[in-house]
Amino acid sequence: MDKHQSGTTDAPFPAAIEARLEQAEQACFTRGTRLTETRRQVLGLILAAPKPPGAYDLLEQLRVWHRNAAPPTIYRALDFLTEQGLIHKIERLSAFVPCTHRLNCDHGAECGHRAQFLICRVCGHVRELEDLDIEIALSRAAQAQGFRIELTTIEVEGLCAACRS
Ligand SMILES: [Zn+2]
Ligand SMILES: [Zn+2]
Ligand SMILES: [Zn+2]
Repeated sequence: MDKHQSGTTDAPFPAAIEARLEQAEQACFTRGTRLTETRRQVLGLILAAPKPPGAYDLLEQLRVWHRNAAPPTIYRALDFLTEQGLIHKIERLSAFVPCTHRLNCDHGAECGHRAQFLICRVCGHVRELEDLDIEIALSRAAQAQGFRIELTTIEVEGLCAACRS
């Protein structure tokens, strides 16, 4: 498969990203899962991306290391990273962002982290929020309707501070 160089950790990402990948590796290890090489590379690509990448962007980039990588390779890696809470899918963009909470939390498997997203329609930047008040207001409003929330996606589109100025 991999004909150049060892294939083991030859640190293809900048040091700051490698450091976060280390953290992610540790976090997976404590939870009894494993950040395999491919999963690690996909997470690294998402962390390094200037804009949230979609599955096919990631596949293309992954092919630098794994020439024969096919869509299932990337989808499996993305599923894993999502299940571990390390990334979020932005439905509106069909793209992925690293979770700003999960890499630094020690809540274990029962993290219960909820996020909302501000999406800039000009530069494509996505800002993750963790605003408990929003969640509380929403669950109150749903409760008043006798509705039980199972899944919430809060994505807000607009202009980021940089694009406004
Ligand atoms: Zn998050
Ligand atoms: Zn947490
Ligand atoms: Zn912007």
